[in-house]
Amino acid sequence: MPHLARAAWLQAPQAPVTVADYPVADPGPGEALVRMEACGICHSDVMIAGLQSLPLSPVVLGHEGIGIVESVGDGVENLAAGDRVGITYFASACGACDACQSGQERFCAKQHNHGYTRHGALATRTVVAAGSLIRVPETLSAEEAAPLCCAGWTAYGALREAAVASGQLVALFGMGGLGHLALQYARHMGVRTAAVDVSEEKLALARKLGAEAAVRPEDARQAILKERGGADAAIVFTASADAVPAAFSCLKRRGSLILVGLTGDKYSLTLAETVIKGIRIQGSYLGTRADLEAVFGLAARGAARPEVTVYPLDEAPALIQRLKENRITGRAVVRF
Ligand SMILES: [Zn+2]
Ligand SMILES: [Zn+2]
Repeated sequence: MPHLARAAWLQAPQAPVTVADYPVADPGPGEALVRMEACGICHSDVMIAGLQSLPLSPVVLGHEGIGIVESVGDGVENLAAGDRVGITYFASACGACDACQSGQERFCAKQHNHGYTRHGALATRTVVAAGSLIRVPETLSAEEAAPLCCAGWTAYGALREAAVASGQLVALFGMGGLGHLALQYARHMGVRTAAVDVSEEKLALARKLGAEAAVRPEDARQAILKERGGADAAIVFTASADAVPAAFSCLKRRGSLILVGLTGDKYSLTLAETVIKGIRIQGSYLGTRADLEAVFGLAARGAARPEVTVYPLDEAPALIQRLKENRITGRAVVRF
């Protein structure tokens, strides 16, 4: 029997995001029907809404969702009605390629993603592959748990890739949804932090969260390289190609440049400087399953908490627009 749901849709490539009702079928084999409690709005939603072509259209957006399982399809044994779960960007992978075989499913070329190639979590109800769901502690509120499914997971994964040790300095470019969580994770690891952003409001949040330095991009080189001897790693969370050379210029010799923010733009760096300074440049995408568990564990222990503002679903189109314009501090979360 179909269930009625309400969701934020991208009806066609580059179409305005709209909120509309639709019927959700019962879950098929290997699937689960989830009644959503909350879903965060991510910069990837903005990017997907701007793509010239879509693999699935129309598509329900959203990949930072917390909900309760209502029913499961045949063959689902690890979940039951009433379980609290999280929906991430990762929906499924082929299971057979080198990436899948080595536990790096997020690099599978045949992967599916919620809110992109599969319907997402920005809906009152959604049907997803049961194997993609993660368990979420009951102690966390839905609105605080939601951003952990993408922003927290990705931020934590990037920090792990940066391989910074206690006492070292990490420069965080972009103090949005990911950056403000990365700052908290870094502090929890005993890593010193320098936050960089164009927004005074976001820099104020960084100072409140204990950043050692919080500066605008034009002041970053002075504050990080000149006054502090350079960062051991710089992580670029912002989806701006201009931030890449700015972050590079703050690194000490043998430093690491970790790229996270997604944009189709090109960046350029000086080859000789990269070579002579022995700089490592690496992309970081989502995280491992262990990273995700670590993120929820840290949240349950109160070591890091996202700054969230809660909105109704009907606000989703406006929130995506505001995020595109860089006018959201912390994370905007839809509460159903
Ligand atoms: Zn995301
Ligand atoms: Zn694969």
